[in-house]
Amino acid sequence: MSLLEINRETCTGCGACLQVCPFGALSLDSENIAIVSEACTGCGACLPECPVEALSLPEVEKKEQIPTDEYSGVWVWVEQYNHQAGSISWEMMGEGRKLADRRGTTLSACVLGYQAEPIARQAIAYGADRVFLVDDPTLEVYRTDPYARILVELVKKYKPEIFLLGASTRGRDLAGAVATYIYTGLTADCTGLEIEEGTNLLLQIRPAFGGNIMATIKCPDNRPQMATVRHHVFEMPVPDESREGQIIRETPVLPEDRIASKVLDLIVEKNEVNLADAKIIVSGGRGLKGPEGFAILHELADVLGGAVGASRAAVDAGWISYAHQVGQTGRTVRPDLYIACGISGAIQHQAGMRTSKVIVAINKDPEAPIFQIADYGIVGDLFTVVPALTRALKRRLNKT
Ligand code: FAD
Ligand code: SF4
Ligand code: SF4
Repeated sequence: MSLLEINRETCTGCGACLQVCPFGALSLDSENIAIVSEACTGCGACLPECPVEALSLPEVEKKEQIPTDEYSGVWVWVEQYNHQAGSISWEMMGEGRKLADRRGTTLSACVLGYQAEPIARQAIAYGADRVFLVDDPTLEVYRTDPYARILVELVKKYKPEIFLLGASTRGRDLAGAVATYIYTGLTADCTGLEIEEGTNLLLQIRPAFGGNIMATIKCPDNRPQMATVRHHVFEMPVPDESREGQIIRETPVLPEDRIASKVLDLIVEKNEVNLADAKIIVSGGRGLKGPEGFAILHELADVLGGAVGASRAAVDAGWISYAHQVGQTGRTVRPDLYIACGISGAIQHQAGMRTSKVIVAINKDPEAPIFQIADYGIVGDLFTVVPALTRALKRRLNKT
């Protein structure tokens, strides 16, 4: 049953609330009075629209006010595997540095692992003023429980105002666990972070409603303001080995015998394609007409020393595996060169590739949205253009 209450005595049937409900939950009945359906989520978006205050939601019990001014500093979780930090963490450090400078505060890195001191030193080179280092055999391989419990204790002790994690598989898992324990807000998969003038709140920008709108999300009442950001959304900063910073050693919270999950074996999956690190990507979409169409893209990618990507339409059609998918529900890539062949350029595809340095679009429809973000556009049949391009490049690069 919907939580929304409609005062039938005051409703004038103006219909203003119908326009704003994102879930289409409001309509007018035969007496021209607003009614609400089961689709209502109680989001409250319609309340301020009613000119006669006929709409209301039950008062939510307010939880204890957090003293937000006691929280300061920007934190980044530095993800590591096999004694190597993930590049996603350094991208977050670069952005964290900018946010900290804008707030006139410090940037701290959280390094959890075993024999992880070299990573703590790297974190300083990448912009950290101080590093919380928790170095213990229980932390060698990522497990939710020990990692989350340490971060929760650190947050309670040092009170950061902003906490950023990479939106990797582990980062997503850890961020959710930490935010739940601390009872704060978390925005997943941000594509932009800003500081709001005046309030100094973190503006967490991300696609919403299937990528049709960009939402700006704030966390005004709880701390820290937590966000995860996808790989390649932010630029990789240049490390400065001469930077100095403080390493603060902290102890783990859970001993091995109190950690529920045990690591019995590690099986490393071999990815058939590494889109994340590819400098050149040749991507194909529904315009390829079938799986055979990808053969000409592989030829072009081979000549250029690049990898083959795909739109979701091509992946959903079963023409190529999911590992190749670029976009909101696939990989985010930032190559030097992205060649989109037979891809219309839907907003969800753009979400994964629009920050590529140079974008070339090959499409027979001059109105295709991909041309709006392309640096170079070729209007034509990809089955003619791509082989011609491959031949020309082979000649130019002496690969005949
Ligand atoms: P189409 O939109 O069908 O475009 C095909 C293009 O090929 C057309 O522009 C056409 O002019 C051109 N063409 C046809 N024949 C030729 C030819 N012979 N030569 C040259 N050009 C030709 N999409 C993604 O890609 N990645 C995602 O991660 C993703 N996530 C999504 C998440 C959600 C929640 C939703 C709702 C959608 C998502 N989508 C995603 C789907 C997205 O909305 C589009 O449907 C999809 O990107 C379209 O793929 P396409 O461009 O290959 O196909
Ligand atoms: Fe729609 Fe939200 Fe109003 Fe419910 S509360 S009717 S979901 S706008
Ligand atoms: Fe009724 Fe208020 Fe909705 Fe207008 S905006 S239809 S008055 S509930």
